[in-house]
Amino acid sequence: MPTLFEKIISGELPADIIYRDPRVIAFLDIRPAAPVHILVVPNKVIPTADDIADEDESLIGHMVLVARDLARQQGIAKSGYRLVINCNPDSGQEVYHLHLHLIGGRALGPLVQRPHT
Ligand code: 5GP
Repeated sequence: MPTLFEKIISGELPADIIYRDPRVIAFLDIRPAAPVHILVVPNKVIPTADDIADEDESLIGHMVLVARDLARQQGIAKSGYRLVINCNPDSGQEVYHLHLHLIGGRALGPLVQRPHT
């Protein structure tokens, strides 16, 4: 079964696509966690970060560079942002097609909620 993101890549499902090249696509997250919330997604089907192969090294680097450029375009490079990849259930990964979250446009708070001590 193709994932939601494969359907967005193929054009079967709509999305607010803001960038596309032969290796990746970037579109707005449907439930933004901040004023800027963009997903950078490889065209290649890689379900999780744990499925990244050594040969994907340049693809993963490319995803980060695309996120850097989009952050500059969105005007949040200097105010700051967070790049996040969730992997498997403990992270809350919802869509099993690798994606990099670019989140910013407000102070984001702690990276992970610490358990109460
Ligand atoms: P994950 O939890 O897997 O790291 O992140 C999945 C993200 O995809 C979530 O932030 C969620 O809001 C977003 N998302 C889920 N379904 C869709 C969709 O159909 N379209 C778009 N644009 N984003 C989606």
